[in-house]
Amino acid sequence: MSTVIPVPTAATPLQGAREQLAEACAVLGYDQGMYQMLANPRREVTVSIPLRRDNGTVELLTGHRVQHNFSRGPAKGGVRFSPAVDLDEVRALAMWMTWKCALLDVPYGGAKGGVQIDPRQYSTAELERVTRRYTSEISPVIGPERDIPAPDIGTDEQTMAWMMDTFSVARGHTVTGVVTGKPISVGGSLGRASATSRGVVHVALDALAHAGIPATRARAAVQGYGKVGRDVATFLDDAGVCVIAVSDQYGAIYASNGLDLKALRQHVDATGQVPGFPGGEALDGDSLLELDVDLLVPAAVESVIRADNAPRVRARVIVEGANGPTTPAADRILADNRVLVVPDILANAGGVIVSYFEWVQANQAYWWSADDVESRLADRMRNTWRRVLDHATANHLTLRTAATCLAVQSVAEAHKIRGLYP
Ligand code: GLU
Repeated sequence: MSTVIPVPTAATPLQGAREQLAEACAVLGYDQGMYQMLANPRREVTVSIPLRRDNGTVELLTGHRVQHNFSRGPAKGGVRFSPAVDLDEVRALAMWMTWKCALLDVPYGGAKGGVQIDPRQYSTAELERVTRRYTSEISPVIGPERDIPAPDIGTDEQTMAWMMDTFSVARGHTVTGVVTGKPISVGGSLGRASATSRGVVHVALDALAHAGIPATRARAAVQGYGKVGRDVATFLDDAGVCVIAVSDQYGAIYASNGLDLKALRQHVDATGQVPGFPGGEALDGDSLLELDVDLLVPAAVESVIRADNAPRVRARVIVEGANGPTTPAADRILADNRVLVVPDILANAGGVIVSYFEWVQANQAYWWSADDVESRLADRMRNTWRRVLDHATANHLTLRTAATCLAVQSVAEAHKIRGLYP
C-alpha cells in the first residue's frame, strides 16, 4: 500500500490534527490503513442533556465523549464546557490526548469530552445538574479501566467531584478512580491544579536555554489567564523571566518593564477580567501574539496562530500551553522563520502526568508529598523535552513532527503487538 502523503488543507482543528498525523505517518513510512485507523476515533458518544434551569424552564444541551485510542491503556482526557464545543473539536482534542499520553509514556490512550455550554451564563446549581446528567449519560463508557475524564476549559475540581459522585452513586460504592483532577479531600493529588502550568514552564526554560536566551534576560507574553496561563505567568516570573503582556478573552494588558503579577491576580479576582488592570497599558488580544518577545505562551484555545498572522509573530520561542493553538500552515511559516515551537503534546502534558500520578497514588492508597509530585513531574517533562529535541535534531524534523512521530510510533507498536481483532 502507498505511504501517506500529507495534504495541506487544514481549516479546522480536526483537519489540522489529521494533517500532523499524516505527516508523521509519511515520515514513519506507515501505510494508509494505519493512518486511517489512527485518524479516526475508536468510539464516539453524543448525548442530549436536558437541563432544568433555576427558573423552571427546560433547555436541551448537547455533550460528547470521544475515545480516540485504547492501544496503550484506558482512554484519558479532559471534559470541556464551552460554547465552541462540537464533535470535530472533541475528536481533534481526543487524538492529541493519545499522542500526549504516548509521548510522556503515561499508560493511557486518548479521549476528550465536551458540553456545548457557556458556563458563565449558568448558576452553580445548574452546572451541577448539567455535570451530573452528562456523567450519567456517558457512564456506560467511562470508568477507571475504560476512560478517565479530567478537567479542561470551563471545568474544575468541583466538576470532577460531581462526576465522581454521580458515577459512584450509580455503582453503589465510591469509585475515586473514575476521574482525575479531583479535590484533595476526595483523592486528588497535591500539585495537580498547577501541574500543566509547571510543566509548561519547565520546558519553556529548557527551550529558552536551548535557544541561548538566559531566563533572566527573557521577555514573555502569555495568551490566556485561565487554569494554565495564570500560573504560567507567575511561575515564569518566579524563574526571573520578565512577563510583559497577558491576555484573556476580553483583551490584553502590556507593561514594557514587566507586569506586577500579584497585583494582576488581585485585579482579576476582583473584576473577573484582565482588561482594566491599572498596572499596564491596554492592548488588543490579537496584538499580544505579535509582540517582540523571546517567549510566547499561547495558553487559551485552538488555531490562534494561523497562516494570516504567523508571518507577524516575532517571538523566538513558542511553548504551547493550549491544545492545538498553531495550525499546520502557521507551523510551516514559523519553521521558515526559525521560530522554535515546542508542541502542545509535550508542552502542556504536565496536567495528564499528574493525573496519572493521582491514579497511581490512589491505587497504592499512599499519598506523595508536594515535593515528590513536583520533582517527578519535572523529571518527566525535562527528559521528554530532551528526547524530542534529540530526535528532531538527529532526523532534521521540527519539534512537533519529532514529538508526533515518537508518539504515533509508540501507539502503532502497541497496536501491532496486540494484533488486530478478529
Ligand atoms: N485537559 C488536560 C489536557 O488537555 C488534562 C487531561 C487529563 O488530565 O486527563 O491535557
